[in-house]
Amino acid sequence: MLTIKCAKCKSKLFKYKKIGQGRVLRCWKSKITRLYDGEVKGKNFVCKSCGNIIAEIKDDRLDMNSDAFTYSGTKIRK
Ligand SMILES: [Zn+2]
Repeated sequence: MLTIKCAKCKSKLFKYKKIGQGRVLRCWKSKITRLYDGEVKGKNFVCKSCGNIIAEIKDDRLDMNSDAFTYSGTKIRK
């Protein structure tokens, strides 16, 4: 499980079940297991604490802005 954090203010945003060792480019909504300090603003997913734009929201996923977040935790082996 990964914990996704805001790169600017370090707030926790959500927990994500990442399968495979690849980069975190998209986060499927169905694999977000817990939501913390993130919120939806228009078509963007933003950090509630500082307003940093973390991702663009699509129907079934978040297209992540790679400069806007960091993460910790482990990816799940395929
Ligand atoms: Zn932030």
